[in-house]
Amino acid sequence: VNTTTTIELWAPTLTFNGRPAPFPIRYRAPRDTTDPRWQACHEHRTACDCREAEWAEQLAELRSEAHLVRLMEEAIDAVLAIHRKGDHGGCRGCLHRYPCPTRNLVAHLSWLETWEAKR
Ligand SMILES: [Zn+2]
Ligand SMILES: [Zn+2]
Repeated sequence: VNTTTTIELWAPTLTFNGRPAPFPIRYRAPRDTTDPRWQACHEHRTACDCREAEWAEQLAELRSEAHLVRLMEEAIDAVLAIHRKGDHGGCRGCLHRYPCPTRNLVAHLSWLETWEAKR
């Protein structure tokens, strides 16, 4: 009776410049510094586990911040779409004199608004 069991852990095949290596490299790089390999990495080299972890963590944080900035920009654009110039020179959103305090508060935060002001 053969009692030997081989456990094979699945890992994705890495690609380089969008192409696979000459021989398949199966490895799951650490996603952030909570990965135990970050702490355990001592033989530092280019793209070692601790560097992979730190770069992946920074990339994830920057993507998260970029997502929040996009949400903020959408909210600002929505406010500015409401507080725009009406037919009689006042603000359509709040009936204040145009530009109203709400528009003045957020207009300089809008990428689109500042870009259109420069044209
Ligand atoms: Zn290292
Ligand atoms: Zn207004």
